[in-house]
Amino acid sequence: MTTDTIKDMLGRVSLTPVQEAQNILLDALQNSKRATDTCSLSVALDRVLACDILSPEDLPNHPRSTMDGFAVRAADTFGASSTMPCYLEIDGEVAMGQMPEGTVQQGKCFRIATGGLLPKGSDAVVMFEHTVPVDEKMIEVVKSVGVGINLINRGEDIAKNSPALLQGHLLRPQDLGLLAGLGIAEIDVYAKPKVGILSTGDEIVPWSESPPPGKIRDINSITLSGLCTRLGADVSDYGIVTDTEDLFLKTLKRAVSENNVVLFSGGSSVGMRDLGERVIEQLGNPGILVHGVALKPGKPIIIGLSNDTAIFGLPGHPVSAMVCFELFVDPALRLFAGISQQKHSLQPSLNALLDRNINSAAGRLDLIRVQLKEQENDLPLAVPVLGKSGSISTLSRAHGYFFIDEASQGINKNTQVKVRLLS
Ligand code: AMP
Ligand code: MG
Repeated sequence: MTTDTIKDMLGRVSLTPVQEAQNILLDALQNSKRATDTCSLSVALDRVLACDILSPEDLPNHPRSTMDGFAVRAADTFGASSTMPCYLEIDGEVAMGQMPEGTVQQGKCFRIATGGLLPKGSDAVVMFEHTVPVDEKMIEVVKSVGVGINLINRGEDIAKNSPALLQGHLLRPQDLGLLAGLGIAEIDVYAKPKVGILSTGDEIVPWSESPPPGKIRDINSITLSGLCTRLGADVSDYGIVTDTEDLFLKTLKRAVSENNVVLFSGGSSVGMRDLGERVIEQLGNPGILVHGVALKPGKPIIIGLSNDTAIFGLPGHPVSAMVCFELFVDPALRLFAGISQQKHSLQPSLNALLDRNINSAAGRLDLIRVQLKEQENDLPLAVPVLGKSGSISTLSRAHGYFFIDEASQGINKNTQVKVRLLS
């Protein structure tokens, strides 16, 4: 599909397909610079690794038992069974947290607990449950073990010099555990992206206030702020600006100079009071990249760039603003954060059956909000949450969404759809 085949509602501006708009945006941001910080492991959760980490040592650095029992020479137990046990002399005991002394000789064994280091001469562990005490010094082994059974070998968890974690990895609790296990106490991470958020419109008042007739509370700032925070950004609130060009431009200029990404909502369309396009143009360097995408909801988005700062003029309707965040701001923020994987490759999704017919206009991407209902013996049902793009409750009720692509004119009831889950 080419850009000039699609017109907006006034027939004025051609709408850019979503994928093309995403490509334009990410290409423009490709060379943006990223600062790094060094931080302690204790505060590294949800940060993004700025370099590859190779394991500095073998983990574990000595073979360890994974069971309570007896360290043995496996060959001594071959053929042992409950009807034909073999007899081993208890010749020592491995103390926890200490290097074992002595060697397990043929026909002998050492007592060992889970996590104990394997003594010399032994190459397997017989579980306590597979032994019968004969006396203080002797056990019967009633089940044979092969070499390497019931133990973890040196380097089996991760071997020295092998890649532990790669640059761009978003650090999860288990990743911090791995680094702790390897004795890595400090790491280089990317600086958190800075995001500035403002709301625009003469009718908008802070959500903490009671709006007089004609005014409404600001829904978008706190929603967008939460989405950014989830992605590890440092968010600054630039408040609400009225539909006054001077004030809007002045506030936007300040936000752009102080952040990697600036989001404003409202004023992004082509109406008389919509100043978004004009102010981004005035900032320049280069200014507007895309205005209007073939998307529902979310058509009147403006994507801009000024020096190294990405600017998103999001539609004022709260659902449209969040949809545009998912499709455009999210990938840009990941890029600024240094996260190597894009959302679509990681976002949990599940297959579901659509519970009614849904129409769609050809030539635009539709995002359908759905609730999921479990069904016995079948895939869950995807029940569309219908409602206007100004109705924030539709998003609050939705468990996820699916797309109807540009080529399609609708999807029939009972079709399997891939629902991306909203967290
Ligand atoms: P606009 O994009 O400025 O034409 O606004 C579209 C609709 O979204 C209007 O009904 C606005 O009142 C509403 N709107 C704009 N900004 C916000 C906001 N921050 N929170 C809630 N609704 C908004
Ligand atoms: Mg407005």
